[in-house]
Amino acid sequence: MAGTSRRFVFAFDEGDKDHKELLGGKGAGLAEMTNLGLPVPPGFTVSTEACRLYLADGQVPPELAGEIDAHLGRLESERGKRFGSASDPMLVSVRSGAKFSMPGMMETILDIGLNDASVDGLAAAAGSERFAWDSYRRLIQMFGSTVLGIDPARFSTVLETVERSTGAAGDVDLDAATLRSLVTNYKAIVRDETGRDFPQNPREQLTMAIRAVFESWNTERARVYRRQERIPHDLGTAVNVMAMVYGNLGPDSGTGVAFTRDPATGTPGVYGDYLSEAQGEDVVAGIRTPVPLQDLERLDPVSYAELRRIMALLEGHYRDLCDVEFTIERGRLWMLQTRIGKRTAAAAFRLAIQFLDDGLIDVEEALGRVTGEQLTQLMFPQFDPHIEAKPIATGVPASPGAAVGTAVFDSATAARTDPNVILVRRETSPDDLPGIIAAEGVLTSRGGKTSHAAVVARGMGKTCVVGADGLEIDADRRQFTTTDGVVVREGDTISIDGSTGRVYSGTIDVVPSPVVEYFEGRLDAAVRRRDPVVQAVSRMMIYADERRRLGVHANADTPADAKRARQFRADGIGLCRTEHMFLGERRHHIEELILAESAAEQDKVLAELLPMQLGDFVGILAAMDGLPVTIRLIDPPLHEFLPDLTELSVKVALAEAGGAIDEGDVRLLRAVRRLHEQNPMLGLRGVRLGLVVPGLVAMQVRAIAEAAAARIRAGDDPRPEIMVPLVGGVEEFELMREEIVRVLHDVSESSGIEVRARIGTMIELPRAALTAASIAEHADFFSFGTNDLTQTTWGFSRDDVEGSFFPAYLKKGIFAASPFDSLDEEGVGRLVSIAVEEGRAVRGGLLIGVCGEHGGDPSSVRFFDRVGLDYVSCSPFRVPIARLEAGRAAVLKASSEGDTR
Ligand code: PEP
Ligand code: MG
Repeated sequence: MAGTSRRFVFAFDEGDKDHKELLGGKGAGLAEMTNLGLPVPPGFTVSTEACRLYLADGQVPPELAGEIDAHLGRLESERGKRFGSASDPMLVSVRSGAKFSMPGMMETILDIGLNDASVDGLAAAAGSERFAWDSYRRLIQMFGSTVLGIDPARFSTVLETVERSTGAAGDVDLDAATLRSLVTNYKAIVRDETGRDFPQNPREQLTMAIRAVFESWNTERARVYRRQERIPHDLGTAVNVMAMVYGNLGPDSGTGVAFTRDPATGTPGVYGDYLSEAQGEDVVAGIRTPVPLQDLERLDPVSYAELRRIMALLEGHYRDLCDVEFTIERGRLWMLQTRIGKRTAAAAFRLAIQFLDDGLIDVEEALGRVTGEQLTQLMFPQFDPHIEAKPIATGVPASPGAAVGTAVFDSATAARTDPNVILVRRETSPDDLPGIIAAEGVLTSRGGKTSHAAVVARGMGKTCVVGADGLEIDADRRQFTTTDGVVVREGDTISIDGSTGRVYSGTIDVVPSPVVEYFEGRLDAAVRRRDPVVQAVSRMMIYADERRRLGVHANADTPADAKRARQFRADGIGLCRTEHMFLGERRHHIEELILAESAAEQDKVLAELLPMQLGDFVGILAAMDGLPVTIRLIDPPLHEFLPDLTELSVKVALAEAGGAIDEGDVRLLRAVRRLHEQNPMLGLRGVRLGLVVPGLVAMQVRAIAEAAAARIRAGDDPRPEIMVPLVGGVEEFELMREEIVRVLHDVSESSGIEVRARIGTMIELPRAALTAASIAEHADFFSFGTNDLTQTTWGFSRDDVEGSFFPAYLKKGIFAASPFDSLDEEGVGRLVSIAVEEGRAVRGGLLIGVCGEHGGDPSSVRFFDRVGLDYVSCSPFRVPIARLEAGRAAVLKASSEGDTR
């Protein structure tokens, strides 16, 4: 498609699957199917570029109308019908399609071109009056709500009233005369709501519909979805205009959706839903419950066989799970859409392995198809399979997981109620998105595996059960009733199992995921062989480990954590926070250290602390024999070890009032006041403590060195590294280093065992990053403390902001994810890059890692790989996730990240 810079419209046979940026996912899929010779109705795509220009300028580019006319002309000659003809009109559909699929986000309008003059012509041409009036009422309803902004309930209320008064069970039972009167009613609603008549000019209908699609890019629910899925806001959407084929032409017509394999489990087979006498979104909207796709084999064996053939062809062509939408018009199959199908985490791993084993993809591509986020989902607990509880209902398992929460019956309450709610709805629509995001799980009484709730929940990794048919949901009374008469009211706890579709009343116990048990080495070999998800994960981990360049270390402070880190295959400990060793029963020692009034008293306390620290380090070094253990000197402000100022003041004041003064408390209070800081995070902590509290660091280093000597004596290979926290300037580090070297030397002398340890620093203040060159002259390694670096770069107090104004910031889209969860690459990441570059310029090969929370965040891991860090360090539980992402980072270019979306 070279030389297309100033063209905005492309016929389906002009594009292909690689032009998603310009044609959107749907347009690219239609183009690809057209080129494969599949039965796609003719049509054209208005590019995302046109949308972007429209959103920027408020008007479409001047060339657009002429281009659309030319393409309409081409459609007319292919179909042998005229758009706007009164006798045998060609109608078109208008569908949005952005680069990334956004289920339910954008609008679809069918039957465009129909009006008062052509409805009879359509009836005559099709030989069905009912069909023509059904199409017209659909057009006014869809156009009215999506283009003219009329509340859809105005139309559906009239429809329901008509259905009730005629005794019809649903829209299929309405006859032509009733549909004709419905059209009259609908037109009156349009006049009433907009002050003008429903537009009769087909070309005007089309222009308005295209603009409405452009504008729907910026609806609140579209923005919410994009923020959730981290899709950029500036892509815009394409618009697909296609000649209509009709699924509402009688019992031999219908519409359906299908997956080439099960998107919930990855099992090969036939998965989909079919609804006869239906158009467009009917099948996913839950208006009527569709039949399983297998039933189509009985209803229309020829179309079914053709569909299976096409699905197999598409899967082989895309080399991936595809989903399709199709319509059957009087026994003739038409393909309306295909794309790479969304899938659950379990299915993603299984499918990657299946396609790899089938020889369709290589290991690199397989790694590209699973993500750290998906692995995270597989590590969540599941319901205990041995539970005896009887389900109160069973539905379709649409997205696996175990969710326990209180039932709520509308999206707004779900979004407000904190936390752990299960959103219970008859069916969901895009308006329910905030509720789905907030909920632990979703339960609906209608719809199949391809319903809105199922697709959205699966995309987000939320537990979801749909189509729990027996449930009678009464949203007004805020309760549901099961077939056995069990009533669950808002606020009652329920448990839903997205793997079996079972719904329980009350709380069901959860058990660890088999994937975690596998990582921990606790899974029985036979179970492991039988569990295809565990199998797939274990193979992908091997591939990732073989390919990754980045080391993955763990943050661990205790021998137990260190053991788990080792089980999870950490390459070492990247952060051992020693302050945790002073909490609990040992806290009073630090209190005594602060209160000590003489050097002798201080030495006594330090001497008491030494054996405790020694014991801790011996345990950790033993667990990590042969691997590096980065031990960080004490970091937090001293006041954290002291009683609360207010509480102690009250205690002392009360004692004074009662005439029973406790001298110890009074001294303590004086110390607490002396050490009180307005901004303790920016106060006396980190290296500053080591520099002003005599003997503290020396004691810690002695404990490390003696522990290492003890392990060497025991025949081990301990590899301690000593890390100085919160350094802002090289002078601080130099002084610390001198003291550390002196103690290491002392211990080597006295024990007769040479103890070696790298001495390095955290880089967690902007000044340290900016002066990395001078610091690197003295430091053996750097480790980025991205928690503090984020706090100090943004000026965000890490303990306060996430609970205060971050929700508002996220809602306003100031950032897509908290910068404490996912590294702010532009700002904090830039400091990281500067420090890496300038540090290594001085000391080539300087060892550099990261030990902030970001070390276990998938997208941050890919960033750290890009800027050349040697390792990431994260909590033991996230080590497998970081290993997988490090493997992916090694084989993927940043541009292919969208693969699994
Ligand atoms: C950091 O700041 O990123 C870090 C690892 O240290 P801490 O979280 O202990 O301040
Ligand atoms: Mg820190």
